[in-house]
Amino acid sequence: MEKVRAANERLSTLNSEVEIKIHKEYVDEDSIEKYIKNKDFIVDCSDNFKTKFLINRIAVNFNIKSIIAGIKDFFGQIITINPKLSACYECVFNQPNLNVSSESPLPVIGVTPGILGTLEALEVIKTTLGLPNLENKLLMVNLLNLSFDIIDLVRNDNCFCSK
Ligand SMILES: [Zn+2]
Repeated sequence: MEKVRAANERLSTLNSEVEIKIHKEYVDEDSIEKYIKNKDFIVDCSDNFKTKFLINRIAVNFNIKSIIAGIKDFFGQIITINPKLSACYECVFNQPNLNVSSESPLPVIGVTPGILGTLEALEVIKTTLGLPNLENKLLMVNLLNLSFDIIDLVRNDNCFCSK
């Protein structure tokens, strides 16, 4: 089953009062803007670096809070970005010279995206409620030894988000 249809089916079962709009399309520089109008958050669940950097750029440029997570086998990381106020994804990571088609999928075990996705949902709730969140912090999740480490971040004055 297509991911968007499976997600729609599952979310509808969980809460029939939620309005869900599904779009089956690869997001790129040309298509992303039509999806972000009047949005409060962008929650990245992509599986490639190119899309994560694109989401970061769009979120900062359109002043939309975003949460970006990455996973590989037993490891994950999450950052919450409050445009113009906190460090962004590019403040932390150098943009690799990759494109989606040349990027091979990273190995993943099923529980890792489940845990990181749940933590992203938690970040949306905490950020909305004004509770302490992962702005200016990078959460590093190690599911092998079950450790959660937080690295403090500062905005990079040379990053596009600081201009
Ligand atoms: Zn930045």
